[in-house]
Amino acid sequence: MAEDSKGGRTAIVIGGGLAGMLAVTALAGHVDAVTVVERDRYPDGQTFRKGVPQARHLHILLSGGQRALEELLPGTVAALCEAGARSLYLPRDLLTRSATGWQRRFDERRHLTLSVTRPVLDTVVRQQVLRAAAASATRVEVLEATEAIGLTGDAGRVTGVRVRSRDGDAGGRSERELPATLVVDASGRGSRTPQWYAALGRTAPREETVDAGLAYATRMYRPKDPATAPDAGVNVPGWPECPRGAAYVPVEDGKWLLTVSGVRGHHPPTDEAEFTAFTATIGDPYVHELLAQAEPLSPVHGFRDTCNRRRHYERPGALPEGFLVLGDAGCTFNPVYGQGMSVAALGALAVRTTLADGGGLRPGTTAEAQRAVARAVEPAWLAAVGSDRPYARPDDAKAGLGERLSTWYIDRLFARAAIDPVVGAAFRDVFCLTAPPARLVAPQIFLRTVFLPRRPGLPSPPAVIERV
Ligand SMILES: Cc1cc2nc3c(=O)[nH]c(=O)nc-3n(C[C@H](O)[C@H](O)[C@H](O)COP(=O)(O)OP(=O)(O)OC[C@H]3O[C@@H](n4cnc5c(N)ncnc54)[C@H](O)[C@@H]3O)c2cc1C
Repeated sequence: MAEDSKGGRTAIVIGGGLAGMLAVTALAGHVDAVTVVERDRYPDGQTFRKGVPQARHLHILLSGGQRALEELLPGTVAALCEAGARSLYLPRDLLTRSATGWQRRFDERRHLTLSVTRPVLDTVVRQQVLRAAAASATRVEVLEATEAIGLTGDAGRVTGVRVRSRDGDAGGRSERELPATLVVDASGRGSRTPQWYAALGRTAPREETVDAGLAYATRMYRPKDPATAPDAGVNVPGWPECPRGAAYVPVEDGKWLLTVSGVRGHHPPTDEAEFTAFTATIGDPYVHELLAQAEPLSPVHGFRDTCNRRRHYERPGALPEGFLVLGDAGCTFNPVYGQGMSVAALGALAVRTTLADGGGLRPGTTAEAQRAVARAVEPAWLAAVGSDRPYARPDDAKAGLGERLSTWYIDRLFARAAIDPVVGAAFRDVFCLTAPPARLVAPQIFLRTVFLPRRPGLPSPPAVIERV
């Protein structure tokens, strides 16, 4: 790999969000210095910032993502809990209603999910990353209020990043080039790499989209009487016959987040009165009834770009030397499945493992790391596009026979999982990204799914916790 003019190995990470910060951890020890280029200035407190617009909406961190986070940065889950993140065991602490009825409330304790607002999560992770980096041999610098506006190099190799300062008053909106041995695009769902490729004389990577046309609207609440607050979060995702859903979960400081969603033709309103009325139109009245016991703390915020979009940077020839793509910049998911942050952590872990196993940055390691990232993305991608297929547009990527069969099977398995602790455990292992999809076709799971009769779930939200 090329070295910079001072003979050192340097990396530039575009985007100081979740994936960007975890990229710093993945690279620590393999380069002499990492510069993070972040368009925003980080706020003083744990508050919302413009560069992560989805941060106002409900975010849960699945157990697979937590494990990856802990491997990268030991102690982070405890730090998140200390900062107020709420721990929810699935399915015990998240009552879920699907097309066939309410899921039984098994006390299985295999999967702890963290529920916390994004500003808190991002701040804690950033602090953990910078603390760990300070103890490593790699120097880390974060350039805030600095926007990446292009790549330098040629079709075969990326050699740096063109940046522009966003602080108009001090240095003006000056542009400059930052050279680097490695550039990581972690700039999120608005990544401009396909356009930047064109300027380097490259063709854009192959892109797949499956768009359910889902929109989100979210509002923060506080139960009027904490003593009578529900003892579990609630999840009523939409289904084809009733494509409107809601999830209501506790977060830090005794607050609760309510996110409602609907596919094309069912988009939730951001007007406050209409938002409340919308909650009465989802597949079950339970969430609407709970709102009578809660006071709103925020306006309603909407979000529309929820397409599953995957750019195949791992394909042969799709990646120039000295370049890597991580997090939403490479793959975004319909957020209703709660996977994006976990996949970002699994991707960063895949990069770190590839570098560690391959003896650091060598020619070809980035392509190898990008393939490892793709393997980390694959299970979540298949689950999301399989579930969204009924809502897809005609020009979206077409389902092959394999995907059609798996969608039929998953539909049966999902119904069974609501009432069967064995199938339910397997479903959660895969859904929470702790086991490969092959777990869903293990003989015991296959037989129970295909041959046991399809039965409805419970008619109302379960109060009773069942031991398993
Ligand atoms: C509505 C919604 C709800 C979601 N809910 C969940 C959930 O429950 N669970 C879950 O795991 N995932 C969820 N996700 C997905 C999750 O938000 C993303 O997967 C995650 O934020 C990806 O991290 P990232 O670092 O790749 O991108 P981001 O977090 O978006 O960070 C990108 C960063 O890059 C910076 N940036 C952008 N462009 C530039 C530039 N040109 N130069 C410099 N900096 C730049 C931005 O300012 C930002 O800091 C949800 C997504 C949405 C849209």
